[in-house]
Amino acid sequence: GMKQRLLVVANRLPVSAVRRGEDSWSLEISAGGLVSALLGVKDVDAKWIGWAGVNVSDEVGQRALVRALAEKRCIPVFLDEEIVHQYYNGYCNNILWPLFHYLGLPQEDRLATTRNFESQFNAYKRANQMFADVVNQHYQEGDVVWCHDYHLMFLPKCLKEHNSKMKVGWFLHTPFPSSEIYRTLPSRSDLLRSVLAADLVGFHTYDYARHFVSACTRILGLEGTPEGVEDQGRLTRVAAFPIGIDSDRFKRALDLPAVKKHVQELTQRFAGRKVMLGVDRLDMIKGIPQKILAFEKFLEESPDWRDKVVLLQIAVPTRTDVPEYQKLTSQVHEIVGRINGRFGTLTAVPIHHLDRSLDFHALCALYAVTDVALVTSLRDGMNLVSYEFVACQGSKKGVLILSEFAGAAQSLGAGALLVNPWNITEVAKNIEHALSMTSEEREKRHRHNYAHVTTHTAQDWAETFVSELNDTIVEAQLRT
Ligand code: UDP
Repeated sequence: GMKQRLLVVANRLPVSAVRRGEDSWSLEISAGGLVSALLGVKDVDAKWIGWAGVNVSDEVGQRALVRALAEKRCIPVFLDEEIVHQYYNGYCNNILWPLFHYLGLPQEDRLATTRNFESQFNAYKRANQMFADVVNQHYQEGDVVWCHDYHLMFLPKCLKEHNSKMKVGWFLHTPFPSSEIYRTLPSRSDLLRSVLAADLVGFHTYDYARHFVSACTRILGLEGTPEGVEDQGRLTRVAAFPIGIDSDRFKRALDLPAVKKHVQELTQRFAGRKVMLGVDRLDMIKGIPQKILAFEKFLEESPDWRDKVVLLQIAVPTRTDVPEYQKLTSQVHEIVGRINGRFGTLTAVPIHHLDRSLDFHALCALYAVTDVALVTSLRDGMNLVSYEFVACQGSKKGVLILSEFAGAAQSLGAGALLVNPWNITEVAKNIEHALSMTSEEREKRHRHNYAHVTTHTAQDWAETFVSELNDTIVEAQLRT
């Protein structure tokens, strides 16, 4: 039959655009999880709407970019520098991101944030309306509009005000915090009411969904039901849709000769030592200092392991212009330096810390040679690194140590060693346990995780969300 048209709206388009001339652009698709998830969804014809990540102030450049992006099924939203500063850096990244991850602001930033709040929130609403305008231009009757993440909480309302028949879903990729945290947000009610304008609201875990429903009942005085939130007879469906990865993409990569060669090199390079791996953006939420301190504690308490284990930490730079992130970077460097000074020898150091990203194939090879992966997020919506590690461990069957504060703990809890990242004594004990685990226990744990990761894919996730959205609308029509 006719393919269902899907408009995917997210802050960033899945491309990076570089201007080559007055009217020419070169584009590179970033093949993240969301892209491959939606490419794989059957019977859906998806288009992307979002910001291209660049400021284009002239019309010639804008028109050229629109044309170039159209070939990639992408439609740009043009945001100027001031809006990006206030909406994206300000409201999204300085207010919503820390709040949703239970992070306090440093005292000196707190008052500035309070003072700037209103102008940043106004910019946020303006930016969301700009996304809505583009959606409205391209919307055709019957389309499903899927809004993504904390950048676009105001979008469902903008869309429904324009056209109440539009099928609108919203999915949050971060945690939704306890209502006790959420209720400190000055714009708490406006944001909830806007999200509730959607037909379907999705979260990674049941806990996040429950926190959202509690926020609606406590702050707005609405009724929470097992189905969602009710307001004067109208139901907004709220449910958990745990995201997955395209596990086949990782398995295919491991079969490539170049990746196999890389695996072999790494195996030789670290022969005689167990490899532990961390892969994180260098963000406060990832608990990198806590992880490294736990590793130090382990080295302290297990002298026999000192020359038999290495920790490889890939720390992908992020928001490098923000002082707090710069501070985190130097903090991590200081701890790593101290530990390598303390436990290193003339020929080896216990920690290899890299401030950089890796390409996909290098990352797959690294996942494959790892004995123990260490994920110590203090809060994390899902954490896909843990899934990717599991997908690449078909032959090695290594151990995953996973923070109980990552969404992934809900799905990989049966196979992983779950830890509280704040308790470095506990993490150190689990490192010891992971390294000395019997092969029976290792394989049993791996089997659990592997079965989950390969059967709950990103594609299933997208398919389930879209079909639930369609069902929700049919049910709503039956009720009235
Ligand atoms: N990643 C990457 N290059 C790297 C390291 C990581 O592209 O050098 C990818 C990784 O494969 C994963 C994503 O970055 O898909 C991180 O996702 P996750 O959910 O773990 O954390 P987030 O960064 O979204 O908070």
